Amino acid sequence: MTIKAHTCHALPKSGVYLHFDDEVPAWTLNIQKEASESDLEENHHLENVGDIIWLTSLNILCCPYCGQQLPGLDSVDKASYGYFQHNDFSRWN
Ligand SMILES: [Zn+2]
Repeated sequence: MTIKAHTCHALPKSGVYLHFDDEVPAWTLNIQKEASESDLEENHHLENVGDIIWLTSLNILCCPYCGQQLPGLDSVDKASYGYFQHNDFSRWN
């Protein structure tokens, strides 16, 4: 069985999603800010509504919205687990 995503009723409708990478293995929580009309007016580096302004990714063991333990992590080394990064695209061009 391949695990690719976790969906639950508590997850926000947009801007937040969970992704499983079975090569690591790791579950990643991605939080992204998408440009709105007013963001385009304030920042001339942005071109389109929906462009990603920033993206934060972090490894998680449980879904922070429903509390469910995520599958596929039985063999993971929890001492070195917890990678995270933040990307800012607001000054890209
Ligand atoms: Zn959940």
